[in-house]
Amino acid sequence: MTPVRVLSVASELYPIIKTGGLADVAGALPIALEADGIGVRTLVPGYPAVMDALTDAHELFEWQLFFGGTTRLIEGRCGELKLFVLDAPHLFARPGNPYLSPDGKDWPDNGRRFAALARMADNIGLGAVASFVPDIVHAHDWQAALAPAYLHYSGRPRPGTVITVHNLAFQGRFPPSMLDEIGLPPESFTMQGVEYYGDIGYLKAGLLFADRITTVSPTYAREIQGDEGGMGLGGLLQTRSGDTTGILNGIDTNVWNPAADTHLASCYDAGSLDRRAANKIALQQRFGLEPRADAFLLGVISRLSWQKGLDLLLEALPLLLGNDIQLAVLGSGDADLQEGYRNAAAAHAGKIGAVVGYDEALAHLIQAGSDALVIPSRFEPCGLTQLCALRYGAIPIVSRVGGLEDTVVDAAASDNATGFKFAPVTTESLAGAVLRAHAAFGDKHAWQKLQANGMSTDVSWRSRASRYADLYREIITARAR
Ligand code: ADP
Repeated sequence: MTPVRVLSVASELYPIIKTGGLADVAGALPIALEADGIGVRTLVPGYPAVMDALTDAHELFEWQLFFGGTTRLIEGRCGELKLFVLDAPHLFARPGNPYLSPDGKDWPDNGRRFAALARMADNIGLGAVASFVPDIVHAHDWQAALAPAYLHYSGRPRPGTVITVHNLAFQGRFPPSMLDEIGLPPESFTMQGVEYYGDIGYLKAGLLFADRITTVSPTYAREIQGDEGGMGLGGLLQTRSGDTTGILNGIDTNVWNPAADTHLASCYDAGSLDRRAANKIALQQRFGLEPRADAFLLGVISRLSWQKGLDLLLEALPLLLGNDIQLAVLGSGDADLQEGYRNAAAAHAGKIGAVVGYDEALAHLIQAGSDALVIPSRFEPCGLTQLCALRYGAIPIVSRVGGLEDTVVDAAASDNATGFKFAPVTTESLAGAVLRAHAAFGDKHAWQKLQANGMSTDVSWRSRASRYADLYREIITARAR
């Protein structure tokens, strides 16, 4: 196997800074790829959390004026991850969420901040760091998506490029007046360039100029080529259909391992499922629910947003509460949904509990203690929580979209069933699936079979990482022709 060098470019990175699945992928894939002979360095912004987490750090370069201020490129590590850090305090020395100011609005200079990230990827791609000249630049989401465009317009021999779409809903649109400031040539502002409905479209540019496009499940790869799923980019994505691949995400099976999870009341594996009971009790206590082993306990771990369909679950509550169902919700996001779940918990104490916030440890306990995990997304590029649920013996109840469709096998479908699926994404069909699951919960033998099937499903990065490795090698071969 010829060794391949890949520069991964990401705006978040587990375990340092995370708002969603992108961070998990950016943190896990490089390590999984080592076994395939792929050496990855990851370029990330120098947020305070990144600067604090960095070890073995040393400066490679300093620019007096890079996107408006003094900037250093630092090389270092975080655990097994090898990092390049864009230390630009004027852009990134801001605590908290990587994209939002404390008032919850996008930082007004996000266009400049993430153009700077992509520009640095372009520099490294063109050989700025002699000790690491990548064969491939792999950009993740809109925040990194200008990298393939910069490389294209450089007019110089360049590495191969890949863009991965983790969520097409976030596209990065900025005013055309920024073109010069971010260093794109005037001729780039056309439909065959970075122009997107009169703006500069960062994701559009990446989708147009990357050699290959990936997204995080085969079904989502199809959905985004349609009018609805395409969210304005469906036409472009159709033209690039032959260059587009859906590769499912995996999860870090060391971080998500019920047999050795320090966040649990009781560790267990497929052979000792009875030990889950202690986690269910702990979860009920934590959410103020009646401590009853026989109640059907539903868990939710999610951003609270329209995408995730959790307004539908709120609406379905009257249809569910007459049955012996409990609900533990962990989430943060839209104010009205936070309010809705807080109110539901107050109105139905003992049956519904809600924790508004982001709590990694509690997410683990929910996976280990709930009977089923509800994920009623309107669209879901891949989804990670259902993969964790499979590994933890919590039965996923999911809408038939994107990666949820690809990773859960419906109970009615086969001997290998792992969960319950519903379509269309409506309150009624969600409630129907929950009631179907509740009925199955009454049959302990059938339920344990679902759990066993889920727990033996491969949700690791191993085989998925090899697909990325194959893709990188295909690009290198095609470009060498
Ligand atoms: P998305 O990236 O769209 O938010 P995913 O399912 O792909 O959805 O990834 C979400 C990740 O974030 C999972 O690892 C999940 O456990 C975690 N997560 C989401 N909300 C919370 C929360 N409130 N507290 C802790 N972890 C959360």
